[in-house]
Amino acid sequence: MQILPTRCHLRQKVRLPISRLIGYTCLNILFSLITLHGAHAESACGNGNVNINWQFEAGAIGGCEFVSEQAVVLHLVPENIPINSSPWYAFDVSAKQTQALQVTLSVGERKPRYLPKVRMAGAQWQTLPYEINANTLRFNLLVTEQVQTIAGQELLVSDHYQQWLEKYKENPQITVEEIGQSSEQRAIFALQHQPASSAKEWLIVLGRQHPPEVTGAMALFAFVDQLLEQTAQNQRFLQRFNVLAIPLLNPDGVSKGNWRHNANGIDLNRDWKAFSQVETQAVKRRFDEITKAGGNIVYAVDFHSTWHDVFYTMPSDHGAQPAHFTEAWLDTLAKQISAQQIEFKVVQKPGTNQDNGVFKQFIADTYGVHAITYEMGDNTDRQVIKQVAELAADILVGQMLATEATAFSSVSTNDKSAPTQ
Ligand SMILES: [Zn+2]
Repeated sequence: MQILPTRCHLRQKVRLPISRLIGYTCLNILFSLITLHGAHAESACGNGNVNINWQFEAGAIGGCEFVSEQAVVLHLVPENIPINSSPWYAFDVSAKQTQALQVTLSVGERKPRYLPKVRMAGAQWQTLPYEINANTLRFNLLVTEQVQTIAGQELLVSDHYQQWLEKYKENPQITVEEIGQSSEQRAIFALQHQPASSAKEWLIVLGRQHPPEVTGAMALFAFVDQLLEQTAQNQRFLQRFNVLAIPLLNPDGVSKGNWRHNANGIDLNRDWKAFSQVETQAVKRRFDEITKAGGNIVYAVDFHSTWHDVFYTMPSDHGAQPAHFTEAWLDTLAKQISAQQIEFKVVQKPGTNQDNGVFKQFIADTYGVHAITYEMGDNTDRQVIKQVAELAADILVGQMLATEATAFSSVSTNDKSAPTQ
């Protein structure tokens, strides 16, 4: 169905989840039911002066209701349920005549997560003062002719990834290739650093399984940039190890402004056992090519965001080798963070669940090596995210170089191509 921007008038064209439509008397119900094929069926609304529009990449509002000329309620609606509560929003707002506007974000029975930020064209993102009351988050805007973009986090969308990949195309040892496509045919890109065919060990970096997790994406960029810096240690590292970085695994989810899932409503970080989705299948196919060519996946880092900074690890007694590899890395990281007086606490949470389809578990169980879910807090200082990621990369590089090739993995080479279902 083609989606066209439409204007709606006071208390009209409200878009709500089906459960909320019960008892709702607006004549637009029929139209709502016809167009509500997803949470984000409409893409604009207004009151005759103010225009609110979310028809852009990562733009998302579930429903829009002007309760007065100066107050609007925006309903945040997930792509499907059940879902981890991460109410994402992004919209543009402007007005013919300058006016004040109180914006209330309503998340139903859920809890607001992402704090509002604003950007004018060509300017930096700034945080907005807000107040949270139970299931609503409220802030005030002065709306003018100049378009303001409001979002739950800085918008890191396809352009940003393209520019980031572009800067590595000059490096003859780096290739950027499409390893597959999402279910809506968006490219899934991988950046690969391959020193020589004799280099058999691979470090894997994965990002953006979950669309709104922008602080994890910021950490990934800083981490990979640091790995590829021309330092003496990195040169030794990059002579021995291959790097495969897949920075944007869920381009559909990012583009649609999803809270967590891909275009099929599936949490990709629960699909590393079933491999029911083309996105996880694409990565698995690339891993199989690597292992069939005699390569060994020796470590993997998967970048995410959550409420607080935390590193989810595989337990040291899980059987992955070297047994204490992740623990040692994070202990050193904590010491260096403290020595440099960076305000950041390294929290390690080991855990295992062989049935949950999480990436780190798949890596440990399939390749016999450690992997980590590297979670940055939603509100962690952006400069600290970068500093920590750079330190983490430097320490990991040193530790991988100090580890004998034979020390990685508890699985024999022949067992490493687990069947893709
Ligand atoms: Zn996540």
